[in-house]
Amino acid sequence: MAKHQFQTEIGQLLKLMTHSLYSNKEIFIRELVSNSSDAIDKFNYLSLTDEQFKQEDWIGQVSIGLDSKDGSLTIADNGLGMNEDDLINHLGTIAKSGTKSFVENLTGDAQKDSNLIGQFGVGFYSVFMVADRVDVITKKAGEEQAYKFTTNGTGEFEITPVTKDSHGTVIYMKLKEDEKEFLGKSRVEKVVKKYSDHIAYPIVINFEEDETTGEGEDAVTTKVKRSEQVNAATALWTLPKSEIKEEEYVEFYKSLSHGDEEPLKYLHNKVEGSQEFTTLFYIPKTAPMDLYRADYQSGIKLYVKRVFITDDDKELLPPYLRFVKGIIDSEDLPLNVSREILQENRILANIKQNSVKKILREIKKLEGEDSETFTSQYNKVIKEGIYMDQTNKDILLDIVRYKSSTEEGLVSLESYVSRGDSEKKEIYYITGENEQVLRNSPLLEAYKKASIEVLIMDDKEIDEIVTPMIGSYNEWSLKDITSIDAPDSKTQEEKEEINKEFKSLTDKIKEVLGDEVKEVKISTRLTSSPSCVLKDSSDPMAGMAAMFAQMGQDMPEIPLILEINPDHAMIQKLDKLEDDSLFGDLSWILLDSAKLSEGLEPKDKGAFSTRIANLATKAL
Ligand code: ADP
Repeated sequence: MAKHQFQTEIGQLLKLMTHSLYSNKEIFIRELVSNSSDAIDKFNYLSLTDEQFKQEDWIGQVSIGLDSKDGSLTIADNGLGMNEDDLINHLGTIAKSGTKSFVENLTGDAQKDSNLIGQFGVGFYSVFMVADRVDVITKKAGEEQAYKFTTNGTGEFEITPVTKDSHGTVIYMKLKEDEKEFLGKSRVEKVVKKYSDHIAYPIVINFEEDETTGEGEDAVTTKVKRSEQVNAATALWTLPKSEIKEEEYVEFYKSLSHGDEEPLKYLHNKVEGSQEFTTLFYIPKTAPMDLYRADYQSGIKLYVKRVFITDDDKELLPPYLRFVKGIIDSEDLPLNVSREILQENRILANIKQNSVKKILREIKKLEGEDSETFTSQYNKVIKEGIYMDQTNKDILLDIVRYKSSTEEGLVSLESYVSRGDSEKKEIYYITGENEQVLRNSPLLEAYKKASIEVLIMDDKEIDEIVTPMIGSYNEWSLKDITSIDAPDSKTQEEKEEINKEFKSLTDKIKEVLGDEVKEVKISTRLTSSPSCVLKDSSDPMAGMAAMFAQMGQDMPEIPLILEINPDHAMIQKLDKLEDDSLFGDLSWILLDSAKLSEGLEPKDKGAFSTRIANLATKAL
């Protein structure tokens, strides 16, 4: 016998489960049945493809045993089973980053945490809501030794070698005193029907029933053992759409996602013709916790003629659709497809293409609250898609949403265009990391004055890379307002006039600031601010910056252009100022405060404060 310590995170999880206020305890049955079904799926594949197991006369089945005398419930399967390492690695440790971060997100507040369980599901450990001791007796297919894993849901578990005839797993649960309702046949049957009706294998309940023979005084009541299959045992996606009820789709999703949350959307398609395949996809209401982790779990299970092949292939859908859960079942792939073949398989590539189109079309159709939910969860990954998937760029551009300088909430490009100037056909945007800074940017002043809408893009890392390469949307070109002339009503002549008038001032400021700025110019884009800074878009480095950011490197410094507002009192007075030292301070303040308005830092913060203090003293 060997004693083991649960990984710390599991300890936390177990504590939560044991003291859970979670009202929906019955889902532990769904979780265990779903694990069994996965294990049967895996063995099923071996029995069809591996010489070693082909001979075996085997039909996958899940058996649920109810023993009121003993106060125990068992859920057994004849699937793949586990060896000692599997027990330690799969039941003693949390391998999946999603589950791990789920645990990291636990607050200790039982009510809140219980809601989280509903969203993410925690599989096997849910048994501790109802049991105070659990034995897992299991034997892995092809191996000699069986093992028993025992735990009472505290920090430790034990593994003991035992004997077991055939491969598969038995989960034995000693129920808590007040959870004995789960020994009732009709109670358990209801739960199985509700959540696991369309698990592809038979689920059989073994129970005892009173049977009376004879009549009157001779009547004798005995306990008789009975067995009954309680689920439909047809894989849901294989049924015609017209025969599937909405709630069946929903429950199937819950069992697939190990959660209690309803999906935002599902789409079920059977494709027939030169290639045949069925897909059933779900878009979760809440993004998976591992959405932004490199080691995210694929949400798609691949089947070939209803035989499970893999749930671990990230190529089945493009990475930006990694939040989609569901099933792909192909009629044309060979059963013994290897991973390498999967990668470059034409059949699969075709399925993928078709699936992406269907999913995106469905997302585009979302309206109102559903559309808002989608955006709140997935807008960033859609932007990834715009960058990665040229083929579907148009529809992705219909789906993506942005903040706007003139509209509440988030807007689509389509709606922007409907409000914009249909002769100019330009979509204006500004990028940065802070929404408030962007909204207050002096660069927006001219647009505000002219009532022109500007998209506020504050997913800096993504937007700065993705937006410049969009180019255009339905013939409307996207324009970064920091690199174009602002809308204004001045004619070219008037502009030249002003430039001439202020030439000595701009030259003098440039002299003070030296290499800190590339150029000092008279601005036509400012109304209330005295100055603003712009990145020089003609600088070759400006184009490179996005590439650097994409490679995870710091952006190279791009030279700044300082623009000053000739209508502003400060600039007009500065033009007439004779005190050189004050002129110097004010020139720096013009630059540094303009930088601050764009979320940039003054080069020398100490000097900046000193100058402000000097100025304040003078003013007083
Ligand atoms: P999940 O099912 O979401 O992976 P669980 O905590 O329920 O998480 O299970 C962890 C792992 O333990 C499974 O991924 C599987 O490898 C293994 N496991 C659980 N139950 C069984 C079973 N009945 N037969 C074989 N392996 C199992």
